[in-house]
Amino acid sequence: MPELPEVETIARGLAQNLTGDVIESVWLGSKPEPLKSRPGEIVRALEQARIAGVRRVGKHIVVDLGLSPLASRHKKPKQRAQWIVHLGMTGRLLIANPGHELPKHTHAILRLRSGRELRFVDPRRFGRLAVVRHGFAAPGAEPLEVSFDSFAGLFHKRKTPIKSALLNQGLLSGVGNIYADEALFRAGIRPRRRAASLTRSELKRLYDALKEVLREAIAAGGSSVSDYVDSNGDAGFFQFQHRVYGREGEPCLVCKTPVKRIVISGRSAHYCPNCQK
Ligand SMILES: [Zn+2]
Repeated sequence: MPELPEVETIARGLAQNLTGDVIESVWLGSKPEPLKSRPGEIVRALEQARIAGVRRVGKHIVVDLGLSPLASRHKKPKQRAQWIVHLGMTGRLLIANPGHELPKHTHAILRLRSGRELRFVDPRRFGRLAVVRHGFAAPGAEPLEVSFDSFAGLFHKRKTPIKSALLNQGLLSGVGNIYADEALFRAGIRPRRRAASLTRSELKRLYDALKEVLREAIAAGGSSVSDYVDSNGDAGFFQFQHRVYGREGEPCLVCKTPVKRIVISGRSAHYCPNCQK
């Protein structure tokens, strides 16, 4: 499942490749799950829109739409809309030439003025497409931008394990299982600790560690952006090395104690019982 760094990398790649292009026409598949807005509404917002930019908000890809230079001469400017894509578990946005074979599970095709197509492919159909007209905002704070005081305030009085609080999208947007485990490891904090029990200095370590792992992962993904958005889309992506996530039973990279795996609220958590308190 793509996490914040992957979504950031994908959004940057799409921004590089698509900004300035114009969506000529839109095809939507018949499966209802991926469409969070009405099909007609999606088509109306996208067709003849100029792609003004692509960016990440939480784990969403936000495509800012403007009017195409051609359309704006003939029509009254319509309200600026945004196309919101959530990749879910297996969703991908692929830039392809129309001649490229259409992958199975293609749910949307945007035909672009440049002659290319932007395809939304999602075998498991947890991904979502929507359009909004009043500015998209993620429910939680942006982990790379939140101030330390606001970050610390999120966990104040919270009795849930810190790991669950990190994954709570209403508190922080876009932090997933991998980077929550990695941040807690670097901060030396056990995933099961009650959020409210963390001292201010522990919270500061966690705040710094979370930004650090997210930035490192974004940097690791940045070099393979062009691979990701080509027609096959699943080219080798992340060089980011996990220190605890997925390493159950393997020696801790710091102290060689075997990494433990536990389950908290149905999600696995990995930690070093020696390095994390
Ligand atoms: Zn250790």
